[in-house]
Amino acid sequence: MARLPTFMPSPLPEEHLLSTVARWLVLTGNKDVKDSLRGLTTNRDSLNPGKAFHPIYNDLFQLYGRMANREKLLSKHTLFPYYAPLMKFQQRLTALDIDKKLAERLRPQPLQGHLNFAWFWRWCPCCVQEDEKQHGVAYWHAKHQLPSVLSCYKHPQQILLKECARCGFNIRDLKHHPLPPGTNNCPSCGEVFGPKGTQNEVTDWLKSVSLQLMSQPCMKRPNYEFSMTHGVSSLLASTHFKRSAKNQLVVFEQLQQEFKRWFDSYQLIDFFMGSELEVTSPRILSIGSAAKFPRALPPMSHLMWMKFLGAPNIEPETLEARDSTTPLLEQELLVN
Ligand SMILES: [Zn+2]
Ligand SMILES: [Zn+2]
Repeated sequence: MARLPTFMPSPLPEEHLLSTVARWLVLTGNKDVKDSLRGLTTNRDSLNPGKAFHPIYNDLFQLYGRMANREKLLSKHTLFPYYAPLMKFQQRLTALDIDKKLAERLRPQPLQGHLNFAWFWRWCPCCVQEDEKQHGVAYWHAKHQLPSVLSCYKHPQQILLKECARCGFNIRDLKHHPLPPGTNNCPSCGEVFGPKGTQNEVTDWLKSVSLQLMSQPCMKRPNYEFSMTHGVSSLLASTHFKRSAKNQLVVFEQLQQEFKRWFDSYQLIDFFMGSELEVTSPRILSIGSAAKFPRALPPMSHLMWMKFLGAPNIEPETLEARDSTTPLLEQELLVN
């Protein structure tokens, strides 16, 4: 018979909620991880950061009881605020609802499989040292798991670590590796972990706007919903389609080629799985999809296109933005 956990640690500063579960697994002292987990949840999904809402959150919220603020935990300790602007209102409500069965039916994020950093846990060796000193334990930070961010939010020069360059060791499921590696050596082959990726103007921009998305306090009505769902189409409507009388498809084709050169020159391939060809051929980086089917793409696609099209920033939603841009967009883009 399942035994309910008698304790559950609270999340540490900036800790990912799944990391709290992993620390609890260590603290129980039970070597049989599956046995411990059976007491907490019936869910068998791996403990990885790829989902906006992991079903195990429900079990945690239940355990924390009424004192826990579900919205606050989601906004401070998961990637939910990052994904929320591209989710439908009903989906967000479902995640925030206390009805357990509903939240388990939430759809996974679109096209996550193309993203190099979506499914694997990343860590910063400087944070590992600082956390051990300050909290007595190293843990996984939510902001280190943002798929569109290359370096640590606290140590800007430190590229986040993800895998061993020699043997390919990586951490997908915290059931098997609950804590970040405490030394700089691969636990599997001993090789020193080396960071991969180059920071530049574009990666800096992606980082700053991704962190902006993470700082939204309200999950039901996230600040950047308009920016994320209409940002690309608004930029197109105010630049390319105002100046150019050309056919929309011709403009899209030209932009797609320019985008590819820009993408290569900033080495943005590091953010994606697989070869270059695989990245640019499906709709994940298609301007047409970004403009017309925004919710079918992950935040990464929108942020890259917005930067390419010259967006200075992502703006919190205003009523004027919605009123003034949508009609133009519909005239020039959607009704061709
Ligand atoms: Zn750090
Ligand atoms: Zn290795």
